[in-house]
This record gives sequence, structure tokens and C-alpha cells, in this order.
Amino acid sequence: MIDRTLISEERIAARLDELAREIDTAYAGREILAVGVLKGSVFFLTDLLKRLSTPVAVDFLQVRSYAGTSSTGNFELVRDLSSDIAGRDVLIFEDVVDTGLTLRKLLGLLGTRQPRSLKIAALLKKDLPENADLPVDFLGFTIGPEFVVGYGLDLDEKYRNLPFVAIWDPTR
Ligand code: 5GP
Repeated sequence: MIDRTLISEERIAARLDELAREIDTAYAGREILAVGVLKGSVFFLTDLLKRLSTPVAVDFLQVRSYAGTSSTGNFELVRDLSSDIAGRDVLIFEDVVDTGLTLRKLLGLLGTRQPRSLKIAALLKKDLPENADLPVDFLGFTIGPEFVVGYGLDLDEKYRNLPFVAIWDPTR
């Protein structure tokens, strides 16, 4: 069951305000192609994009790497982008960086398509040795290794619509 709120709705909103300012500064005079990794990043992406002054286009892709509460270690591109990213400033939106496998694969894949720049925005990053060398350009919060739900993050499609991030405790 849901154990406790880890990051409240108010803390998320305040951090998104800060991230939006960082992103506007970094992309001054440019246009962003925001790439959302379905489905978990949708809440983070839409709430953040509403705060930006930088012009932005949006596209989505979908990957599969998780089943239940554990990473399968596999990476499958279930749905590709509908836009050509060559020459564009691409900003990938990810909900949580866990092992980092998903983002490493995505950086490899999208990097071959000649974007002008390719950066990462992530709401959460788990403090783990596996992802320590993975550069997250715009990061909301660093968290522990626990499995979390809410604010886009699911457990078998449940809990995505919680307005906060909570820890899931399988023993309770
Ligand atoms: P990675 O490839 O970095 O190991 O995992 C990335 C993906 O696994 C995330 O986009 C998310 O879908 C899923 N994931 C990893 N950790 C969690 C977690 O704590 N909670 C939920 N709901 N999904 C997670």
C-alpha cells in the first residue's frame, strides 16, 4: 500500500517554477522540441511546459522496461516519435531515472538522428551507483532507492493521478 508522501504537491510546484526558469535561461532565443517518454512523464511534462516562456513543440515516444515494481532489464521502443528531430533542440522528459537503462538507450537512439542538442529533464533520480554517470541536465529531486508512485508514476497503471509522489511499501 501507499506508505507515505515523499514529495508534496506544493514542493513539486515550487521546484517546477525553478526548473522552468533554468530551462528558459538555457534555451534563450531557441525553440525546444519536448519529447515525453510515455506514460509516466506526462504530468511532469505538461505542468513544466505551462511554466515556460521558450517556444516549444511536443512529441511523445513510448518504451517498455518495467513490469510491476522491478526493471526487466530489457528495452523496447513501443511507439516512436512522429517528428524529425534533425537540427532541433531536443529535451527528453523522463519521470524517474532508476538504473538509467531507458535514458542511455534513448540517448543512443535519438543521438543518431542528428539533433542540434539533446538534453534530459527528469522529475526524479534515484541515488544509485548504476546511474551516477548519467547526466540529467534539469533534475527535480534526488530520491532513495524505494519504489514510488503518483504524479505520473504507476504501479500496474494505478496511482498515476495522485498529485504527489508517495512511497509504495510492498510489505504493508
Ligand atoms: P530505468 O531504465 O532508469 O531503470 O527505469 C526507468 C523507468 O522505470 C521509468 O521511466 C519508470 O517507468 C520505471 N520506474 C523506475 N523506478 C520506478 C519507481 O520507483 N516507480 C515507478 N512507478 N516506476 C519506476
